[in-house]
Amino acid sequence: MVFLVVFVAAIFGNVRCLAVNVTNLANSQPKRVLMLFSEAKDVPGNIMLEQAVKAEMLKDSTDPVVFSSEYLDASHFSGKEHFRVFQNYIGKKYTANDLDLVLAFPSQDYTLAGELPDALFPVVPVVFVAINEMDAPLEISKLGVTGIVQRFDIRGTLGLIKRLQPDTRRVVVIGGSTPTDRATLGRIEEASQSLEGVQFEFWTNRPVAELPGLVRSLPEGTVILLGSILRDVTGQTYYTPQVAQMLAPQASVPVYVLGGWSLGTGALGGSVVDPEDLGARAGQLALRVLAGADPENIPIDVATKGTPMVDWRAIKRLGIKESRVPAGTVIRFRPETLWDEHRDLILILLAVFLAQAATITGLLVQRRERLRAEAEIMNQRTELAHVTRVSTMGQLTSTLAHELNQPLGAILRNAEAAEIFLQKENPDLEEIRAILADIRKDDRRAGHVISRMRSLLKRRSLELKSLDIAELLEEAISMAQPDARAWRVFLALQLREKLPAVRGDRVHLQQVLLNLILNGMDSMAGVAASQRLLTVSAKTTGGKTVEVSVSDTGAGIAPDKIERLFEPFFTTKPNGMGMGLAISQTIIEAHGGKIWGGNNETRGAVFFFTLPVDDK
Ligand code: ADP
Repeated sequence: MVFLVVFVAAIFGNVRCLAVNVTNLANSQPKRVLMLFSEAKDVPGNIMLEQAVKAEMLKDSTDPVVFSSEYLDASHFSGKEHFRVFQNYIGKKYTANDLDLVLAFPSQDYTLAGELPDALFPVVPVVFVAINEMDAPLEISKLGVTGIVQRFDIRGTLGLIKRLQPDTRRVVVIGGSTPTDRATLGRIEEASQSLEGVQFEFWTNRPVAELPGLVRSLPEGTVILLGSILRDVTGQTYYTPQVAQMLAPQASVPVYVLGGWSLGTGALGGSVVDPEDLGARAGQLALRVLAGADPENIPIDVATKGTPMVDWRAIKRLGIKESRVPAGTVIRFRPETLWDEHRDLILILLAVFLAQAATITGLLVQRRERLRAEAEIMNQRTELAHVTRVSTMGQLTSTLAHELNQPLGAILRNAEAAEIFLQKENPDLEEIRAILADIRKDDRRAGHVISRMRSLLKRRSLELKSLDIAELLEEAISMAQPDARAWRVFLALQLREKLPAVRGDRVHLQQVLLNLILNGMDSMAGVAASQRLLTVSAKTTGGKTVEVSVSDTGAGIAPDKIERLFEPFFTTKPNGMGMGLAISQTIIEAHGGKIWGGNNETRGAVFFFTLPVDDK
C-alpha cells in the first residue's frame, strides 16, 4: 500500500516537472550560438573544448540553446582567398537575426573573433576562447567582444619537471613554425632563464618525421618539452598531440606537454591547459553574455595558471616515485583499484569483519576478566592455605614448647648434675642411676606430651565431605605453582584413570599434599634446573582406596633415615622443624588412611598416602 502511494506520488511529481519544462520551452525562444573554429574539426583540443563549452551551457541555461559549428581549418588552408571564401560562406549561411551569440575559437590570430563577426553580424555579441601566447588586440573589446586568453603554463610545467625529476640537466624543446608555435617557443625561452643549472636545446629546424629516430637515444638527465607544433620546417602540418603520439612511445626520456589534449599519447604530463576546465569557464562567460551582459564591460580574462596533470602509466613506465607527484596533481589513466570496482562489497565485508572483530574482542576481554578473577581466587586460596599451615604449625610448636619446657628443663638439669657427680674421684653410682631414672621419667613425660598433642589433633573434628580427588590434586598443584616457578621445578599431574570420590577434609588434605610437594621441591635444590621434576599421581587400589603419590627427582633419603621420617622433630634441614610429616601422618590416619615414604628406583624420593573411597 505504502509503495503504491509512493509510486503514484512519483509519477505525479514527474508529470509536474515535465509540465514546467514544456512551458519553459514554449515560452522562450531558443538561443542560437554560432561556434567558429580556426582549426579543423578533428583537432583533439578543439573537440574537447567544444564539448565542454556545450555541456556547461546546456547544464545551466534556462533557455534551450541551439549550436552551429564552422571550421576554417587555417593550418591546412592558410591563404587569404580561403579565408574570404569561408567568410562569404558564413555570411550567406547565417544572418544576424538568426544569432544570439558568436563563440569564436581563434588560434593563429584574432580575426575570427574580431574582423569576421564585425563584418558579418556587427550587432551580435562575441565571446572568444583562445589558447594562445599572443594577446588579443586592444581594439577588439570595442567591437563588443570579450573572452578568455589561456596561456600555456610554462613555468608551472618546468616546476613539475623539477619536482618529478630533480636530476634533470637538459631540456630538449620541440616546437613548430606557425606564429602560434613560435610565440610558444619564445615564452619557453623566456621561462628557461629562471631554471638554473639546466641547459635548454631548441629543436625547431628539424622535420618532425626525423624526430622519432632522434629521441630514441637521449641520455639520462634529459627531458623533452613539447611546445606547440602546428607546422614543421618542411611546411608539413600537424597537431601537437599527434607529434606527442609519434615521440613519447619512442623516446628514451619523458615527454612533457602543455595541453591536456596531449595526455594519453604516452607523454608524462605537465602543468597543462585543461580543456574541460577552460570549456566550463568559457561556457559560464557565454551564458552571462547571452543573459544580456555587455561584452564591452567584461574585461578579457588572461589566464596563465595550468592544471598539474600526469599519466599514471607513464609515471610507472619511467619508474618515477609516486611520492614525488605533488599533492593536487590530477592523475589520469590510473587503473581502477579493487576498491573503485567493488567499493560496496568491500564496505559490507569490512562491516561484517569489524562486527566479528568486535564480538571476538568482547569475548577475549570477558575471558581475560574471568582468568584474572580465577587467578585472584587462586591467590587468595594459596594465601589461606599458607596461613592455615603456618598457624597450625605455629600453634603446635608454641604449645609443644610450653609443655615440653618443663620435662626438657628437668632432663637438662639432671644431666648437668650427673656430669658433676661423674667428675668426682669416686662417683656415687647409685646417685647417678637415680638421676638417669629421673631423666628417663622426664623423657617419657615429654613423649606423652607429644602423643597427647597428636591425639588432640586426631580428635579435632574433621570436616569430612565427598571429594573429587582429581580436583583436589589440581588445586594443590596450582597452589604450589608460584613456588615451583620460583624454584624452577616442573610440576606434573598424572591421572591415568577416572578416580572415585574420596571422603576427606579438603583443607587438611591440601596441607598434606602441600607438605609433600614442598618437601620434594626442597630435596631438588642441588639438582640441575632442567631435571627438577615433581610428579603427583593417583590410582585406585583394590577398589576401596585411592593411592596418591608424590615423587621427586631430588637427593633422596638416606636408607637409615627412612624409619624415622615420621618422627616428630626429625629433620635433616638446618632450619627444619621436622613436624611436616608427623602432622601429615596424623591427618591421613585420622582419615583412615596410611602414609609412607621411600626412595624411587632411579632417583629421588617418593611419598604415598591412601584415602578410603567414599562409598556413601
Ligand atoms: P622438615 O621439612 O621441616 O625437615 P618434615 O617432617 O616435613 O620436616 O621432613 C622430615 C625430614 O624428612 C626432612 O628433614 C628430610 O630429611 C626428609 N624428607 C622429607 N621429604 C623428603 C624428600 N622428598 N626427599 C628427601 N628427604 C625428605
